[in-house]
Amino acid sequence: MKRFVRYQNGNYTVTLDTLTGTKIRENDLDFFEADTVESMDIKITNYCDMGCPMCHENSTTEGKHADILGPSFLDRLHPYTELALGGGNPLSHPDLYEFLQRCKEREFIPSMTVNQTHFLKHYDLIKQLVNEKLIYGLGISLGNPTDEFIAKVKTIPNAVIHIINGLVSLEQLHKLKDKDLKVLILGYKVFRRGEALYDQEGLLIEMRKTRMYQTLPQMVEENWFKVLSFDNLAIEQLDPKRLMEEDEWNEFYMGDDGIGDGFTSASMYVDMVERKYAKNSCSIERFDLLPTIEEMYKSLK
Ligand code: SF4
Repeated sequence: MKRFVRYQNGNYTVTLDTLTGTKIRENDLDFFEADTVESMDIKITNYCDMGCPMCHENSTTEGKHADILGPSFLDRLHPYTELALGGGNPLSHPDLYEFLQRCKEREFIPSMTVNQTHFLKHYDLIKQLVNEKLIYGLGISLGNPTDEFIAKVKTIPNAVIHIINGLVSLEQLHKLKDKDLKVLILGYKVFRRGEALYDQEGLLIEMRKTRMYQTLPQMVEENWFKVLSFDNLAIEQLDPKRLMEEDEWNEFYMGDDGIGDGFTSASMYVDMVERKYAKNSCSIERFDLLPTIEEMYKSLK
């Protein structure tokens, strides 16, 4: 695939740098109106052996793998659609490699999110997937920021460390700072096991969220990380908009994903295990898969 790819979506043009993941949307109007999704989160398995107490997917070793090779809307996606594969542990899916090869043939742009433990355990396989251009980006959910972990993350060009607001401690953030790392802050999801953990440890979670809110200006001011990004829930919880000018915000913000009232992002969530789709992974309202992504996206707007 070429480094820079370009396509039309509704009333705007999308340019994507496949090397860095930078995306630019352009038109001569003062609003963007998408016809289809540019990216989607896809759950490909509910199997996972980690048993994390905050798992909002309720993934276990009893969890099923999705049928990702059978006929589905995936066969008709437009080239350059970004697929963020997750689980469960996506590395545990027996058809992962073949699926990624098909994605490559169709010119999709897959990325994957794995847990730190699985990242270290399957480091060689992940390197292979990156080298073969079968995945473009890698999200790694932080467990414990050891020196070995940080050194290995730095060998994967598009690796982004995922931290959860309310779970990550200041001490862990200090271990990660000034190491030239890319970090994505995810909002804490009071959902499924995340709800059970919140019932038990809500005070601690709220205390950490407050600390994160207070520390964020310093983090940004001092450039602790090479790149610092937020999912929509973290934006709601941490209000990074307070740290920039309006036009800077408009330049970076990628749209609402249905966490609040709005749904203006060109992304959505698909659970291939249960064969359902929704605005995002926290949506309780889920619908049976339709033959094309355009039909599903339009029904959510
Ligand atoms: S590693 Fe991820 S999918 Fe597995 S139990 Fe933990 S949070 Fe859930």
